[in-house]
Amino acid sequence: MNKVAVLYDAGQAVLSTFDLDEVLQRILTIAHDYFHLRNVAILLLDKQTQQLCVRSQIGWDEGQDKIRLGLSDGLSGAAAAKKQPVYAPDVRKDPRYFCSAKSTRSELAIPLMVRDEVVGVLDCQSDRPDHFDNDTIDLLTLFSTQASMALQNARLYSLERERARQMEAINAIAKQTTAVLDLEDLLGRVCTVIQQAFKISHVSLFLREDHDLVLRAHHGTLTPRLPQGGRFPATAEPWARILTANTTLTEKDFADIPDAAKFFVESASRLCIPLVSFGQILGVLALDSVHAGAFREDELQSLESVADICATAIQNAHYVERVKQLAYLDGLTGIFNRRFFELRIMEEIERARRYGTGMAVIMVDIDQFKRLNDEFGHLLGDEVLRQVSSLFHQQLRKIDVVCRYGGEEFGILLTQANATHGMNIAEKLRALVETWQFPGVPRRVTISAGTAAFPEHGTTRDELVRAADTGLYAAKQAGRNRVCLASLSRGSSAGS
Ligand code: GH3
Ligand code: MG
Ligand code: MG
Repeated sequence: MNKVAVLYDAGQAVLSTFDLDEVLQRILTIAHDYFHLRNVAILLLDKQTQQLCVRSQIGWDEGQDKIRLGLSDGLSGAAAAKKQPVYAPDVRKDPRYFCSAKSTRSELAIPLMVRDEVVGVLDCQSDRPDHFDNDTIDLLTLFSTQASMALQNARLYSLERERARQMEAINAIAKQTTAVLDLEDLLGRVCTVIQQAFKISHVSLFLREDHDLVLRAHHGTLTPRLPQGGRFPATAEPWARILTANTTLTEKDFADIPDAAKFFVESASRLCIPLVSFGQILGVLALDSVHAGAFREDELQSLESVADICATAIQNAHYVERVKQLAYLDGLTGIFNRRFFELRIMEEIERARRYGTGMAVIMVDIDQFKRLNDEFGHLLGDEVLRQVSSLFHQQLRKIDVVCRYGGEEFGILLTQANATHGMNIAEKLRALVETWQFPGVPRRVTISAGTAAFPEHGTTRDELVRAADTGLYAAKQAGRNRVCLASLSRGSSAGS
C-alpha cells in the first residue's frame, strides 16, 4: 500500500504545477521523508558541457549544492554514463564515490531518462551503510520516472510557451507593421519587435536598391561592422546565394566559415531570410546571434512567417510612398508641385528659425509665354516648360527644392542661404535660360525672377512668397529678363 502511496504522491506532485523547481522540490521532499534519506538531489545534465549540475536538493550544506560533475565523476556521473542505477552500499569502499557530504555512508544514483536520453540523475544518500535494499532501489527507480516526467512536462510546457510567445510576436508584428506606412519608421520597428520577441542578438534589414543591398535598419546588442545605409553589391556573398536560390540561408557557426562576410563583430551564427512579395525579392531579413547554432529548425517556420509579413508591409509602405510622391509631383514636368512647395517652405522656415541658418525663396516666371504659345503652339510651350524645369533641377543643389508653382511660374527654395546667394542663383538661372537653345524655338526664351530671404524679407510663408513676388513684379516692370531683390520694407507694399 505504501509503495502505491509514494508513487501516487509523486504523480500528484508532477501534476500540481508547471513550475519545474516547485515540482522537483515536492518530489525530493516525498523521497526524503518516505525513504528516510539524509541527502537527496536532482542533477540535470548540461548538454553542451556534458556536466551534471544540481538543480534541486534537500539535506546538503550550503556550497555543496554548487557542485558540477563530469560523466566520469562520482556515482551520479557513472549512473548517467551507464544509463543505469548505480549503488554503493558502502561509499568508503567504492572508488567511484565522490564525497559531497561527510556523513554519507551509502549512495544510490538513478539516471533520469526521457526516451533513451539521459537528462539528469536522482542522487540519494543515507548516513546508514547499505540503506537501500533491492525493493527500495526498484521503488526509487520507479519513483525517478516521476521526476523525468516532470522534466519532460516542463520542457514541453516551456516549448509551448515559447511557441505561444512567437505566435503572439507574429501577431504583434502583423498589427504594428500594417499600421505603419512610413517606410523608415516601419523598418526600425520591424527590427525592434523581432529582436525582442525572438530574443535574437541583432536583427537587420537590407533592402534592394538597383544592383545593391542597402542596410536600412538594424536593432540589437552587437557591434556593427557596417554603417547604416551601407551598400553591398547583390552579386557578393551572402546575397548572391540567397537571391539566386530565393531561400533562407543558415550559417551555423562562423568559426567554420573563415571567409564569411560578418556584419557584426560578435556574431557567431546567422540566419538570412529573403523578403518576398508577389514573387519579387525586396531584400533580406538578417538575424545574428552571439551563439553558434542559435537558429533551430523548429524556429525557422515562425521566422519565415515574420519575414513574409515584413515583406508585405514593406511593399505597402513602398506603394504609399509612391502615391504620396505622385501627389506632390507635377504631371507635366515631373518636378515637385505647389502643394509640395508650400509644405517644404514651412519646414525650411522652421529649420532656418531654429538653427539660424537662413533660407531664400526665388519666384521665377517665363517672359511672354503667352506669345510663345501663340507663335509655336501649346505642345512646344509644354516642351519649353519641361526643359526649363530640367535646367533648374540640374543647376541646383540636392538640398534645394524646385517646384512648378503654377502655369509658367516656378518656386525655388534655397536652404542655408542668404539674399546674396539667392540673387546669385537667380542670376545664374536667368543667364542660362537666355542662352539656351530650345529645340524648335527659333528665338530667345527669357525668365524674370524675384528673390526674398529669411528673415529680412519675411518670417512666414506668405510674407516670403509675397516679398519674392514684389521682386518678380519689379523685374517685369523693369523690362523682363532680369532678377530683382524683394524690397526690404515688409508689408509696405500693401500700403503703397
Ligand atoms: P509675362 O512676361 O508678363 O509673364 O507674360 P506671359 O505671357 O508669360 O504672362 P501671362 O500670365 O499673361 O501668360 C501665361 C501663359 O502661360 C498663359 C498660358 O496659356 C500659359 N500656360 C500656363 N500653363 C501652361 C501649360 O501648362 N502649358 C502651356 N503650353 N502653356 C501654359
Ligand atoms: Mg505668369
Ligand atoms: Mg510669364
